[in-house]
Amino acid sequence: MRHPNLRVNTGRLLRRIEDLGRIGAIDGGGVCRLALGGEDKAGRDLVVRWMREAGLTVSVDRIGNVVGVRPGRRDGPPVMAGSHIDTVRTGGRYDGNLGVLAGLEVVETLNDAGIETEHPVAVAFFTNEEGARFAPDMMGSLVYVGGLSAEDALATAGIDGATVEHCLQEIGYNGPADCGTPNVRAFVELHVEQGPVLEAEGVDIGAVEGVQGISWTEYTIEGVSNHAGTTPMRMRHDAGYAAAAIAAEVRGIAREMGGDQVGTVGAITLSPNLVNVVPNHALMTVDLRNTDETLLRRAEQRLAAFIADLADAEGVKISSRSLARFEPVDFDPGLVDRIERAARDRGHSVKRMPSGAGHDAQMLARVCPTAMIFVPSVGGISHNVKEFTKDSDIEAGANLLLSVLCDLAEESTQATGGARASTRP
Ligand SMILES: [Zn+2]
Repeated sequence: MRHPNLRVNTGRLLRRIEDLGRIGAIDGGGVCRLALGGEDKAGRDLVVRWMREAGLTVSVDRIGNVVGVRPGRRDGPPVMAGSHIDTVRTGGRYDGNLGVLAGLEVVETLNDAGIETEHPVAVAFFTNEEGARFAPDMMGSLVYVGGLSAEDALATAGIDGATVEHCLQEIGYNGPADCGTPNVRAFVELHVEQGPVLEAEGVDIGAVEGVQGISWTEYTIEGVSNHAGTTPMRMRHDAGYAAAAIAAEVRGIAREMGGDQVGTVGAITLSPNLVNVVPNHALMTVDLRNTDETLLRRAEQRLAAFIADLADAEGVKISSRSLARFEPVDFDPGLVDRIERAARDRGHSVKRMPSGAGHDAQMLARVCPTAMIFVPSVGGISHNVKEFTKDSDIEAGANLLLSVLCDLAEESTQATGGARASTRP
């Protein structure tokens, strides 16, 4: 471990989380800073000011991603920490913000100690991670790694009809930098878990091995409306029953497959939605996730077969539309090992785990060795004004980020010990 006695200034980090959380603050301690709105601009301005005060060279790219770089003894790709500062409408103060402000705190700590690293160290925040205003989510990081063209992203209209390009101009974050610059040597994102596992198991740190694959599908079921009293059961084409059967099957698939498979029906709308009418129409969503692509496909196939049989048996028409499909992402094994080891060295309990939510890191993983550090979320609550992580856990996560980034920034050889090349696709 390089600089084993180096520690972040926890008070400064906590103060900054508070200060940023005051911008767009909503009742209950939460935050609303939808991507590229006025509150997002104010949050960006504050973080950029802090970056400049810390001596970082700040660049803004065409899609509004912001990167601040601290030079190293040699030029070249920086070791990068980062996340996002946009939030959902009823967001918390920690989601995303922690990863950005802890990255900034790492830089401040290096400055305070007068440490010059071999490689540059960078802090980034990416545009529209949440996807609460513009689809897709993780837009800025996806453009950064070349997975979506800047033109397509800029032309995207949000829920209020305004395009990304227009909003970027409005808030003055349509920067001159090319998307995807600088190249990144390694990327580490500190994030709150947003789930209950670490707290429930009493573990301090999650060494995140990857992100679950996500399959979102919308189903439209068309049956026949009829009188609930006079229509014999055998003569019904009941869209409501079909929707309920699919919801039960989704649960059954997850239960029988076990492992990491999860399945959720989050929305069902019935028409005409009356007590005494057999529904003729149902609109529903299914969310399937697994860390293993083969198993995720198996879950999808099993549900598709069930739905085909169900449509036949009930005499209803069921059509589907894919809303999102991301394959699972594996983080760099060498970097995950390094995080696990560094956590143990610092006296923390640590668990290797997948991420159930999507993060910017899964995009960066396409172009450089990448991993994430999770700290516990009290009650497993996130995307909620009650989102909370204890100060001691924030301190532990930030010091671990410091330790891992320092080591990466001081190495003269390949960043992680993993075999992955850090070239662009
Ligand atoms: Zn987040």
